[in-house]
Amino acid sequence: MSNVIISVKDLVKKYGQFEAVKGISFEVYEGEIFGLLGPNGAGKSTTLEIIETLREKTSGEVTVKGFNLDNEPEEIKKIIGVQLQTSGFYPGLNLMELIALFSGLYNRKVDAKALLSSVNLLDKAKSKFKDLSGGQKQRFSIATTLINEPDIIFLDEPTTGLDPQARRNLWELIKDIRSKGTTVIITTHYMDEAEILCDRIAIIDSGKIVALDTTDKLIDDLVATGFERPKEVKKANLEDVFIHLTGHTLREE
Ligand code: ADP
Ligand code: MG
Repeated sequence: MSNVIISVKDLVKKYGQFEAVKGISFEVYEGEIFGLLGPNGAGKSTTLEIIETLREKTSGEVTVKGFNLDNEPEEIKKIIGVQLQTSGFYPGLNLMELIALFSGLYNRKVDAKALLSSVNLLDKAKSKFKDLSGGQKQRFSIATTLINEPDIIFLDEPTTGLDPQARRNLWELIKDIRSKGTTVIITTHYMDEAEILCDRIAIIDSGKIVALDTTDKLIDDLVATGFERPKEVKKANLEDVFIHLTGHTLREE
């Protein structure tokens, strides 16, 4: 049996009269990549930010690695890594300076070069954050989630706006982080990405979970209802053409 690392029970979040999260329950297992999918406004970020201790819940129960969100939020903070909006970084500082700043906040000693190397940004150590490409900014912001060597990292739409090469590069990075034992929770609007990355997926719509399972099982269940995709006459799609012609090599450098 898999170990539960995050447990959410009957979580409700109201913004005034508006109920953004309507009593959802789910568990995340240790070491998995768990995807939270859903249209804009479904309540994904709200849910993540509550678990991250950054937003107050209205009701419900959340535990992270055995720590109760109500009683021990400080313990939860110590074992999680949260990807901040990249707009939150001081644009004029270089990457080494930003890591020094973050490690100070976390009160941790960090091998900044090893950290940058792990996200393939060692050659940008002295570059200012604002001079990085979109993909590099995302890789750096993922690096900052690893500073406190967390058990769990939260990635909210980490690949939105990236080109296909940078997106693939980030998939490799995320798989790499998980292979070292870190649990990953990710939101994305790209279904191909979710299918490639996620072990299990919760689909959330208007504040409710409408499905939760492995990607395989979700697809098999749909097929079992008699659903048939319009026949694909071509064995490739436009993204295949794009990658075939332009390659996997990152273009931002
Ligand atoms: P998602 O991340 O799935 O796009 P969010 O969790 O950001 O969804 O938002 C869920 C719903 O809650 C949306 O309708 C959004 O407009 C609303 N919402 C989010 N934050 C606030 C807030 N601070 N005040 C009022 N409503 C909010
Ligand atoms: Mg969101």
